[in-house]
This record gives sequence, structure tokens and C-alpha cells, in this order.
Amino acid sequence: MNLGHQVAAFMVVLAGIFTISGHAHPSLNFNLSGSAWSSFYNLSGCHKGEHVPGLTAIKQYLHTFGYIPQNLNFTDDFDDSLESAIKTYQQNFRLNATGSLDSGTVRQMMSPRCGVPDVVNGTTTMMRSRGLSSVMRYTFFPGNPRWPVWKRNLTYAIRPGTFSTSDDTAARAVFARAFARWAAATTLSFTESTSYSTADIRIAFFGGDHGDGEPFDGALGTLAHAFSPPDGRLHLDAAELWVVSGNSRLGIDLESVAVHEIGHVLGLGHSSDEAAIMFPTITTGTRRVELATDDIMGIQELYGANSNAGSTASSPVTQENEQNGAGNKQNGAGGSSLGSVWARAGGLVLGALLLIS
Ligand SMILES: [Zn+2]
Ligand SMILES: [Zn+2]
Repeated sequence: MNLGHQVAAFMVVLAGIFTISGHAHPSLNFNLSGSAWSSFYNLSGCHKGEHVPGLTAIKQYLHTFGYIPQNLNFTDDFDDSLESAIKTYQQNFRLNATGSLDSGTVRQMMSPRCGVPDVVNGTTTMMRSRGLSSVMRYTFFPGNPRWPVWKRNLTYAIRPGTFSTSDDTAARAVFARAFARWAAATTLSFTESTSYSTADIRIAFFGGDHGDGEPFDGALGTLAHAFSPPDGRLHLDAAELWVVSGNSRLGIDLESVAVHEIGHVLGLGHSSDEAAIMFPTITTGTRRVELATDDIMGIQELYGANSNAGSTASSPVTQENEQNGAGNKQNGAGGSSLGSVWARAGGLVLGALLLIS
């Protein structure tokens, strides 16, 4: 009987939201209960020594994001390795390192997030010791891959046919703004190309398994992922309720995720600074698009500062960086194989779209 009101309300919300062509929307569900990780809620309070159905899923989650290196035959036993992995997770997210699944930890784990692992090759990437610069929490991928010095004017393209005609302009503007934020802080420039196949950075929305070994998981959960330089692939989960303009507490802000994933494409890993673009999680209804000091320090360590925009970080190591960059080109080329996949991203649901489409 209230359907008319509901539809009207959704239309307001949806004014700035687009859907990906050809994608089948999951059921109507606007909260975390629809996410792949909603079952974690039932595990709040678990600690070492317990046997609780569902802990296998926590172990799989921690494995996915690098906290448990091997996918052994996981059981529902809360064992030493799970406690250790949870402690590392808690340290990365600056939670109390209790080693148990306290409610704050579970809530953090249920948050939509980037699919790029936090820990790679056993390195707790988000906690890199920085000596005197201990307040800086930015990280790089192993080997510090970056785009080579002869490639500072990068092209990008969005997979053809991604947007409907009515969404196209607004969606392209989102990506243009996202790239401009990184260009303003660095010596890099970004130009949209009409050739998807030859562009340096290739942006695509995919649902589920899309051939790179890192399938998306439907609404919420993992939102997006991107590959380390110079691969250039940036993938977003087509199942998300993406918000392109305005605010919606129901959807995921596309520009926020785009800025984050571009950071990966350029060589940044995750940061434990909650204010940083490179922090791994984002909640529905949140907009986080401005580079934080932590992001700027990190990207300028890789590429130097944009002299027109003023320097946040001095770059005494520029020459050394360029040399590394040349060497990393080789690393990066090898890294474009599936063996060094770095991503995956999250989700939300949108049955309401069906009501008005
Ligand atoms: Zn990420
Ligand atoms: Zn992908």
C-alpha cells in the first residue's frame, strides 16, 4: 500500500546512480545483510580455543586479503594461526590487537572494501616502519613497481558499452575528476583515450568471475580491484549500487572508489591511515575523494611532486627512484600475469532499480 511512496523515495536516491548495462540486479536489499560477509556478525565474541561454525569463512576472508598465507583445509577451530592473523588485521586497521573477534573487529571485517590484499608475501604492508616518518602509513607493492619515467603522460579508457547514453557524461566526469586529483599532486598527466585496447589504464565493470582469477562477489563485500604498474587494469564490481553524483546512504560513491583504485594502478598499496584514500574500506553513503597528506607523500615518493601545485614532500631520492622505475618496468611486466593480481572490490544491492526501470 505504500509502494508509491517507496518508489518516489527511491527515485530521489537513484537520481545520481547508474546501473551497468546488461547486469542482472540482485534482490532488494539495502544493508549489510546482503553482503558476502554478513554471517561474520554471528561470530562476534569468538576467541581462541573455541569451535564455532562459521569460523572457516573468517579464515577464508583473512586468506583472501593476505593474512593467512596458505589456503589449508580450514576448519571452524579458533586456532593459533587464526588468532595471529586477526592480531595482524587489527594492527593494520589500528584496532586493539586482542586476537579475538571483538565486535569492532567484526564490524570492520564486514565493511565493503577493496579487493587488493593488505598483506602480500607475508609482509604486513599497511604497517611499514618508516623511521622518523612514523606517522606516514602509505605503502607500495613489493618491489615498488611504478610507471617508467618515459611514461608520465598516461592514457585511460573505459570499456566500450559500459554506460547507457544518459549515464555516460556523468560517469566519465567522475573518472576525469578522479585522475585529476592524482595529476595535481604528481608529475603525471592523464588523458582519456577512445581506444580501450591500447590505453595504458583500462577501466571496466564486471560481475562475478571475469577471467583474471579474482571474481567479484555481488553487492557489497569486495567493490573493486586494480593491478600494480604497469599493468593498467582497473576493475569495478558491476553488482554495486554505484553513486555518480549527490549523496546516497545506500550506494557506494564511484569517485571515492575510483580515486582509490587509481592509486593502486599508480603503485600505492593500502594505508592504515583512516583518512587516506588508500585505506582499504569504505562504507555506503561515504564520500572520500580528497588525497590525504599520507597519499600525497606516497605518490610523490614514486613520481615526484607537481611543481605547479607546490610540493608536499621533498624528493631527494628522485634520481634513485627513476633508476628503480626502469628496473621495475621489468618487474611490472612480469607482474601483469595472474600471479600478481592485486585486487578485488565490494558491493551493495539494488532491487529498487527494477521498480523504476
Ligand atoms: Zn585497495
Ligand atoms: Zn578483475
